[in-house]
Amino acid sequence: MIQHQIVARDITTPAVIAAFRQVDRADFVPNELRTRAYTDRPLPIGLGQTISQPYVVALMTDLLQVQQGQKVLEIGTGSGYQAAILHTITPNVFTIEIVEALYRQAKPRLLKRGFRPEQVVLGDGYRGLPREAPFDRIIVTAAPPQIPRALIDQLRPGGRIVIPVGAKDHPQFLQIVTKSKDGKITVGNSRPVRFVPMTGGEPR
Ligand code: SAH
Repeated sequence: MIQHQIVARDITTPAVIAAFRQVDRADFVPNELRTRAYTDRPLPIGLGQTISQPYVVALMTDLLQVQQGQKVLEIGTGSGYQAAILHTITPNVFTIEIVEALYRQAKPRLLKRGFRPEQVVLGDGYRGLPREAPFDRIIVTAAPPQIPRALIDQLRPGGRIVIPVGAKDHPQFLQIVTKSKDGKITVGNSRPVRFVPMTGGEPR
C-alpha cells in the first residue's frame, strides 16, 4: 500500500511515510472488510460514511506540513485513521465527530493509541473547537460549501488549514488556507477530491 499507492504517486516526505508504517489501516475498517484494508479506495465504515482512500490521507497529511509539538484539530473523526496518523507526528491532536455511533467506535481505538479522552470529541466541527483554540493546523475530512469562518478564527497566526470545499453535488477541491504572522489569509487550490458533505452548522 505504502510503496504502490503513496510513494509511487510522489509522496515521499519521511514523516508521512513513517506515520503510515506505524498505523495499520486494517485496525480502522469494519471486520468484514479487513481483507480489503489495503486497497486503493475509500471503504464504508457504516452510517453512510467512509474511511478515505490511503493516498488521500497521505496527500492531506503531506499538505498539512505538521511539525512535532504543534496543536492540531481534525474535523470528521470517522474511523479515526487520519487522527491516528497525525498523532504519530505530534501527540497534541484533537478530533471531533458529529455522528455519535462513529465517535463511540473510534474513541477506544484512539485511546489505545495514546489519545487522552478529552482529545476525542463528540460535536459539530463546523464551529471548530473553541475551548482548545487556537490551533497550528486544522484538517477537515468532510466538505462544506465554503470555509467555515470559525475555523479561520481558531487558526493561530503562522497556521495552515487543509480542507475540501464544494457545494453539495458540485466538484470539490482541496484548499490550503494559510494565516500569516500578521493575520493575513491566503487561500490556494490543490486538486479535485470527493468527500462526504459536512453537516451541522445550523444556528443553535
Ligand atoms: N477522517 C476520517 C474520514 C472521515 S469521513 C477517517 O480517517 O476515517 C467524514 C466524517 O466527517 C464522517 O464521519 C462524518 O460523520 C463527519 N462529519 C461531517 N460533518 C461533520 C461536522 N460538522 N462535525 C464533525 N464531523 C462531521
